[in-house]
Amino acid sequence: MRERADLERHLETALAPYAVRSADSRGRRVAEDEPPYRGRFQRDRDRIVHSTAFRRLEYKTQVFVSVLEDDHYRNRLTHTLEVTQIARTLARTLGLNEDLVEALALAHDLGHGPFGHSGEDALNEAMRGHGGFNHNLQGLRIVDLFERRYAEFPGLNLTYETREGFTKNLSAESRAKFGFLNDRPSLEVQLVGHADEIAYDTHDIEDALVSRTLEESDLESLALWRQAVAEVLNEHAELKSDHRLRWRSAVRRLIRILAGDLIAETERRLSAQKIGTLAEVRSCAQELVGFGAELRPKKVELERFLRARFYYHPRVREHAELWQGRLKQLFAYYVDDSARLPDDHRRRVEAEGATLHRVVCDYVAGMTDRYAERRWSEHCGEQPVA
Ligand code: MG
Repeated sequence: MRERADLERHLETALAPYAVRSADSRGRRVAEDEPPYRGRFQRDRDRIVHSTAFRRLEYKTQVFVSVLEDDHYRNRLTHTLEVTQIARTLARTLGLNEDLVEALALAHDLGHGPFGHSGEDALNEAMRGHGGFNHNLQGLRIVDLFERRYAEFPGLNLTYETREGFTKNLSAESRAKFGFLNDRPSLEVQLVGHADEIAYDTHDIEDALVSRTLEESDLESLALWRQAVAEVLNEHAELKSDHRLRWRSAVRRLIRILAGDLIAETERRLSAQKIGTLAEVRSCAQELVGFGAELRPKKVELERFLRARFYYHPRVREHAELWQGRLKQLFAYYVDDSARLPDDHRRRVEAEGATLHRVVCDYVAGMTDRYAERRWSEHCGEQPVA
């Protein structure tokens, strides 16, 4: 049997000098013996996949309100799996730690509440004056506190390097509060953020076209889409007459264009900044993983278009706004009387001195779309006439 230390050495000798190695880990919040035959970051990945929050991703909205639409659009779980496979491919190509990247990608959306970004806005509004709601911080609270599966510690007790995935846009004050140093995140963390963008920019186009929320002619104003379609037709002229296969081929080509640009630009920055160690990554003044100067404005154009024409499309907005309002009603229902909360949540107010607003927020944020619907119908929906 190959033991953990041998496995880690074996796998990690092939990594680039600036990748994160297990031996560099800043450790776990509670010290543990590492298992005999799994690396530290593999263990993090396993803990994430076995968590309750991970399973709930299946019933949380990405863009479409899942229960009201067909079953073949993305939900937060399938989005997470797409981000993970894109990120692993990029990590392997750049010589970064693929096990760590896998754990980071699988965890990256754990903190999202029900009903996508409109749900997040509803929670943030309900929490105004009470500390607000942010899905990254919520993800950290889930993996540090709320998953209860181990006798030895609360949460999943992940390594610093995996927890660091939730530090995007955190203030220096919040970083310190959650035990993070004030330096730049690893290349692995930077990479997963961009893999997330590649995944949603491209799969949202596909979902928009397949659902006929947008027509292909709507996309012709976008430089990146025109490039992808031209490349596809150059190789397969017969796709001129097969629009579905043309869309799907163009979406795949778009992933290739974005991923290829990210790899080339990241390598350029690493060499321009003469990065040779992880310490140099952490002290570098600029972000090292990124898209090139020529591609960036085209990507911004595409994202602006998706926001205006897809995320704010009446068909998407109608359901989103309906549930934004209902989520606020549900929130108010629990805040009105803490006795309405499930026992384990109510106990946090009594035993831990957590504020009622925060406990309600944690409860509602943990709900899947369909669970929130059931609770709303039960407590706030129109009552049948007796
Ligand atoms: Mg995501």
